[in-house]
Amino acid sequence: MSEQIQKLFDLSSKTAIITGGSGVLGTEMGKALGASGANVVILDLNGEMADARAEDLKKLGYSALGVKASVLDQEDLEKARAIILDAYGKIDILVNAAGGNQAGATIMPEQTFFDLNIEAFKKVNDLNFLGTVLPTYVFAEDMAKNKQGSIINISSMSSTRAITRVVGYSAAKAAVDNFTRWMSVELATKYGDGIRVNAMAPGFFVTEQNRTLLTNPDGSYTQRGETVIGMTPMDRFGVPEDLNGTLLWLSSDASRFVTGIVVPIDGGFSAFSGV
Ligand code: NAD
Repeated sequence: MSEQIQKLFDLSSKTAIITGGSGVLGTEMGKALGASGANVVILDLNGEMADARAEDLKKLGYSALGVKASVLDQEDLEKARAIILDAYGKIDILVNAAGGNQAGATIMPEQTFFDLNIEAFKKVNDLNFLGTVLPTYVFAEDMAKNKQGSIINISSMSSTRAITRVVGYSAAKAAVDNFTRWMSVELATKYGDGIRVNAMAPGFFVTEQNRTLLTNPDGSYTQRGETVIGMTPMDRFGVPEDLNGTLLWLSSDASRFVTGIVVPIDGGFSAFSGV
């Protein structure tokens, strides 16, 4: 590979924040960013886990820092920003990975929309949507000042397809897609071509949040799991490592003329009609 091409993916001297960074997907993303040379900030509501994940990265020889903060608390995020700037001097990459569905916000098989718990609906909307907007509000100002940076939001298949049960989560992820496009235009038009906003939309990955929905205790698929696999031309669930290539492409100069897009990483789920 020529030196010029290699440099496209080089993240050394970049600082990357991953919100929800001690979660299943965030942990893998931390490893990928660390291996590419970035200083990795694991920001999570669970401070102990954030510190533990940062220690794991350091053991691999990467530069890492754990920071406790809620993506729903502006003051917390501002304190986090001060800690990060003190440690690394600037912020280059923001991965908004805190999110997920929450108990109570799901319509169970025996329920209908009219049983929806509105408080739980609001909480899920806040975590996934406001929890993307607020860290962007706090951390992207530094990127705007430096006229360079990459923001990567985490969407979902449920933002464009109706996936039964997850009404609030789906609406919030659709808002994340819209915000991705809106913010990409805002930043490019006001701060130039060095600052970009994109999103990754993972398909079905078996993680702690959905394991019991998709798999039985013996590892076989539930009826819902079978339906998902039947709609996935690649015939498997995603694994966290499947996100790495897209993450590094969107984080680096390799995607320097790409902004405002949502990339499905779904084994073909979103392309397939089922026929
Ligand atoms: P996870 O539950 O393993 O991790 C989420 C992390 O966010 C946890 O470490 C949690 O402590 C943290 N968190 C929760 N509330 C927070 C808050 N207020 N402030 C800061 N941190 C907070 O989830 P995951 O499976 O790694 O998912 C990561 C992202 O990917 C989420 O946005 C999720 O919606 C999205 N996603 C996941 C899948 C999947 O199949 N797992 C599919 C599509 C999209």
